[in-house]
Amino acid sequence: MTNVAIVTGGSRGIGRATALKLAKIGYAVVVNYASNQSAADEVVGSIAAHGGKAVAVQGNVASEDDVRAIFAAADKLGPLKVLINNAGVMDRQNRLDEMSLERLKRLFDINILGAFLCAREAVRRMSLKHGGTGGVIINQSSAAAVLGAPALGVEYAASKGAMDVLTIGLSREVAAEGIRVNAVRPGIIDTEIHDSSGIKGRVQMMRDQIPMKREGKAEEVADVILWLCSEQSSYVTGAIVPVAGGRC
Ligand code: NAP
Repeated sequence: MTNVAIVTGGSRGIGRATALKLAKIGYAVVVNYASNQSAADEVVGSIAAHGGKAVAVQGNVASEDDVRAIFAAADKLGPLKVLINNAGVMDRQNRLDEMSLERLKRLFDINILGAFLCAREAVRRMSLKHGGTGGVIINQSSAAAVLGAPALGVEYAASKGAMDVLTIGLSREVAAEGIRVNAVRPGIIDTEIHDSSGIKGRVQMMRDQIPMKREGKAEEVADVILWLCSEQSSYVTGAIVPVAGGRC
């Protein structure tokens, strides 16, 4: 039976690049998305056109019911071996003293509660303790976790700091149960997430602050994720790998 990978937020940006690469090496991929169905359909269509298998599954990772439905869709395809905890949002550039409770709750619910709910479902399926055959969980951190994103979005940075702790703690919790848990820590990657900040041309504006003097591509992050999913990283767990052109 084909091994299955779930990519939360697999319809655009880094998630999209990762879903395409996982399908290319033979995984049946659950392409989760929140609302942009046409983007998810495009990814699934592209995978199918190259002979791969994928399904688009709408669901908000902050909803326990939706997370259960995402994993139920994966169960229909085969054994779950990979979870990419990728879905994440940024909000408009702001200081903490101007942030509403609503904004804070929405961001933490999606970026960190969602990752916890998905990781929990994955462990229930992958762990040797639960009759699974092992697997890999990759979390999306961010350079913001170490830089703090002052006057931009400290709540976003804090959610990614929590992602780092989830990575370290869970990796040790399930290390003897056949599951490796790692994270990537991207810097400035050229995707649409930066539009949410409300700063026009943010990616280009940041170039000077990046030691390599350029932004990264979604595919460059996906390549590191693929390595963390592979047997080539079989003794790596609890690692947080910077993919940031030197900026972190
Ligand atoms: P993106 O291009 O904005 O794509 C975000 C993806 O997440 C989309 O597929 C979106 O679905 C999905 N999504 C958003 N909210 C969701 C929810 N509540 N439930 C399920 N899916 C949801 O973002 P990206 O830049 O690729 O970022 C991906 C991850 O990398 C995020 O966790 C981000 O924080 C992290 N990251 C990005 C950068 C960067 O520079 N780009 C740097 C560091 C870390 P829809 O299409 O339906 O909206």
